[in-house]
This record gives sequence, structure tokens and C-alpha cells, in this order.
Amino acid sequence: MKILKIIVLLLLVLIGALSAFMSFWPSFGASVSGERLKTAEASSHFHDGKFANTVPQAPYAVGQAWDLLKKQFGGNEQRVPPSPIPVTEIADGFFEELNRDVLRAVWLGHASVYLEIDGLRLLTDPALSDYASPLQGIGPERFHASPVALDNMPRIDAVLISHDHYDHLDMATVQHLAAKGSHFFVPLGAGAHLEKWGVAAAQVTELEWGQSAEIGKLKIISTEARHYSGRGIFDHKDTFWTSWTMVGSKHRAFYSGDTGFSDHFARIGNKYGPFDLNIIKIGAYGPGASWTDIHMTAEDSVRAHLALNAKRMFPVHWATFNLAFHDWDEPIKRTMAAVKDTTIELVTPRIGEVVTAGETFQSTNWWEAVNAGPRKN
Ligand code: ZN
Ligand code: ZN
Repeated sequence: MKILKIIVLLLLVLIGALSAFMSFWPSFGASVSGERLKTAEASSHFHDGKFANTVPQAPYAVGQAWDLLKKQFGGNEQRVPPSPIPVTEIADGFFEELNRDVLRAVWLGHASVYLEIDGLRLLTDPALSDYASPLQGIGPERFHASPVALDNMPRIDAVLISHDHYDHLDMATVQHLAAKGSHFFVPLGAGAHLEKWGVAAAQVTELEWGQSAEIGKLKIISTEARHYSGRGIFDHKDTFWTSWTMVGSKHRAFYSGDTGFSDHFARIGNKYGPFDLNIIKIGAYGPGASWTDIHMTAEDSVRAHLALNAKRMFPVHWATFNLAFHDWDEPIKRTMAAVKDTTIELVTPRIGEVVTAGETFQSTNWWEAVNAGPRKN
């Protein structure tokens, strides 16, 4: 009995120490409180103190944790690329010309995309640190460098954050962009993290699904996603998650954020489509329904693309971090297979290649050379 008491006491001390460290260490972010919490509570998507999806995810199946453990320690997937991933250097002068009539995109890796749309410069979920983690040096490490250093990037007009997971919201990247004057569009509650990191309130717009804001002549709309959030142990679903719809005078683009499949894609497509460019996540899915419900499979992403009424499919959320139990290149292979008998205009750019909407893009199966190339270690 005495031993049990000591164990409980030690656990309490450990949890207390962990909580204290997490509130002290800035990259964990801040908790939602005050006016921000009142705004969250007023949302129709906030129930019992947490944000919620329209369609709940399947409950965790019995034995799923055991399956995941077996995969973690005994899985034979090639989760990490066996040789270096090619990164195309961005040409000198690329950032100097900004054409108001053009929509073009450059994949910086994972869900980070540099976008020029109707004369504005945007970034989706820029996470350019070496690790997608609260502690640099621990956790998922990038497979490749960014094709452009933050210092060499021009001032970004708008940064779109889909949710607060570390592979989407990176403190160092946010602070760098904020110092250069970028404006941040974030889902409800996520502004708490930015505030803690010293970003001025005037540089942050928090939106809930269906709400929009304008920057220049571009309308930025928070649209639905089916996911979750959290940077610590106790903040699961405390901040919201979103997809982003961009409606300009000449072009329309969509960014899915992290999400499972649901009929929200058809609703967004009907209301705001057709999109010239669909930046859509394809990787880090399953196993298990509860996982794929909030992280759709590659086939779901293709279904989503069709439902969205979008022209060009620009796949992201693969090839940068080891986050799931599948081969590192399985998402793109399954996407390729799923679009085979469709008219979908899928592009598969290398990291750093420029994709321009309405212009032919020469896609290659560049990942095949990574698998054939000399092993990195
Ligand atoms: Zn996520
Ligand atoms: Zn993610």
C-alpha cells in the first residue's frame, strides 16, 4: 500500500513538473483563455469545452494501440527515403517578379507551399525548422532542406495556418515571418500561440468556419476540415482546425489542411469552385478507421479533389517528415494509381519546382530515383 502511495505521489510530481516545463517552454504554445475562450465557446462547433468535427471519427478499436506498437518497433515499411530527396533551387530573381495575372505555387516540403495569387504572396502552413517538434533535435526530422531560406524570401503578405500541430505551426518560422510584417490567418483559438510568441495582435486574424477576411483583393475564407489539434498533453482540440479557400479576382485556390474525407469537400466545391489549384494532403494516413477518419488516404484525397470541383491537383503532406506507418513514397504512388482512369490534372513537382496554373507542367516520378539512389546512411 505504501509503495502504491509513493508511486502515485511520484506520478503526480512528474505530471506537475511536465506541466510546468510545458508552460515555460514557449514552443508548446499557450492555452486558450479570456476573450479568446469566450469566442471559442460561442462557436457552434465547440462542445463541452472542446472543438468538434461535424462528422465524428470512429472510436479507437480494441487492440489498435498494440497494433501501432508492433508497427513502430517491428514494421518493415520504408518510412524514410533511402537516399537524399532532390531539391530544386529557386532561380535567382524568381521572387522579384510578381505577376498580378498569375497563380503559381512552389512546394517547400510537407504542407508548406509558397503561393502567388493575383498579386499577393502567401504561404500555407510554413514549418521550415529542422524538426516538427517542440524540442529541436528530438522528434520527426526533415528529410530535406527547404528550397529557399526564410532570409531569402520576400515579405509574405498572408500566412495561412490550418491548425496547431507541429508539422503545420512552427514557432521559429512564425516569429521570422512576423518580424518581416506578414499577416497570419489562423483558426479560432490558435492566435493564443502566436500571441505568446510575440506576434502583434494586429497581425493575426482568427477565423471560424464560414468566416472570411480580405487582404488586398483576395478573399480568404476559413472552410471546414475534419481533424483535431493540440501541442501538449492536455490541450487536445482546444484550438480549431480549418481548410482555406482563396478567392481572387482572377484565380481561386484551395488548401485542405489535415483532414479526413467527408462531404465538406462537395459543399466547399459547390459554393466556391471551380478552383484553379487544389493543394491537398495525401500522406500520413492509417492504419485504422479512427486514424483515416481524420487523415484521409490517398484515394480519399482523389475523391476529395473530384468533389471540390478543382482543376489542378497539387499533392502535399508527404516526403518531408516520417509521421505514419507507410512507405515514405506510398502516398504519391497510391495517388497516381487512383487518378489513372480519371481526367484529373495531377502534378508531381519536385520540392522547389514552380507550378503555374493554366500552364503545362512536366511531372516526373522523381521519387523512383530516390529509391534507386545510393543509401543516405
Ligand atoms: Zn494535424
Ligand atoms: Zn500534418
